[in-house]
Amino acid sequence: MRALVSEGPERLALREVATPRPGPEEVLVRVVVALTCATDFKLARRGHPKIPFPLTLGHEFAGVVEAAGPGAPFAPGERVTSAVSGPCGRCDDCRAGRENLCATAFERPLFGAFADFLLVPERIVKNGLRRIPPVLSDEAAALLDPLASVVHALNGVKAVDGGDVLIVGTGPIAAMLFFLLRGKEGGGAGRRVVVAGRRPERLAFFEGINSEVARIDPSSRNPQADAPHPLFTFKENPPSPERIENKRGEGAKFSLIVDTTGDADVISELPALAANGGTVLLFAGMPEGARVSVDAYAVHYREVSITGSFHYTPRDVDAAFALLVEGEIPVSSLVGERRGLAQWREAFDLVERGIAMKVALVP
Ligand SMILES: [Zn+2]
Ligand SMILES: [Zn+2]
Repeated sequence: MRALVSEGPERLALREVATPRPGPEEVLVRVVVALTCATDFKLARRGHPKIPFPLTLGHEFAGVVEAAGPGAPFAPGERVTSAVSGPCGRCDDCRAGRENLCATAFERPLFGAFADFLLVPERIVKNGLRRIPPVLSDEAAALLDPLASVVHALNGVKAVDGGDVLIVGTGPIAAMLFFLLRGKEGGGAGRRVVVAGRRPERLAFFEGINSEVARIDPSSRNPQADAPHPLFTFKENPPSPERIENKRGEGAKFSLIVDTTGDADVISELPALAANGGTVLLFAGMPEGARVSVDAYAVHYREVSITGSFHYTPRDVDAAFALLVEGEIPVSSLVGERRGLAQWREAFDLVERGIAMKVALVP
């Protein structure tokens, strides 16, 4: 079978490899679509401390069961999608409902969907693999993994039910956050949801789905200045842009701010933009040892919380699946393009140039 293998940093190649055979309680899936994701680009570029090279990329997929090993409760021909982790179910974290933090959940993560076939390990068959109901398209079902992370993030914050929200970053995760916070009808209960980012073509995408956008302008950074320099330009009513003062919280108005960039300079400005009692949620992964300096004044005198969310639990996966079935995510706006697996370069390029949010690779 063919597999898009990352052989080392910046060394990607479509190779012929042996088709795996499912062992006891494992399932072999014939991939129908696999979506591009920033995580794959990151892995291809610099690898991962816990996942050694060589590694076949791709983890957001829909497919059909090709063969089920002895004891696996699936049958050939069933359409499936999956979570990517396999929590043990027995450790302290798992028993406390924090399966996302299980120390062994990523021992055999489900990577390898940019290929003709994908072998699903036993633990993921047990907790992650899901049958796709006929109502869901392959592209929609393939969004299960990223959407479950978004569901997990929003479940963890108390501010979700009211107040304005700032989403920082303009990728597919930001778009899914936007769709869930705004609600299907677009009413959003009078709540203002602003998406902030740098790339004009991505901001144009968000304007196209009727989001208010704010520009992050790195050129306004001034490392010599004593006070933090505002990076964010908000435009309530274009063409008269209003600049939010980024000091001591004057003008700050967001009860929830979600960072999807992992950019330490951007994050350090966020507490000042939070409302009293608001929450800054760090969604994006950052490298080990990363440090962020924050406005301690805002944390103490204005009770701004800084929190994080990582991955998802099996319950989040169920909730995300239900949202997909209910049609809460306009899938075609996120996954508008299909390319053959052999056209992976072109697919990656469409995403990296900001032309597509995600591209579906079709073996
Ligand atoms: Zn992903
Ligand atoms: Zn565990």
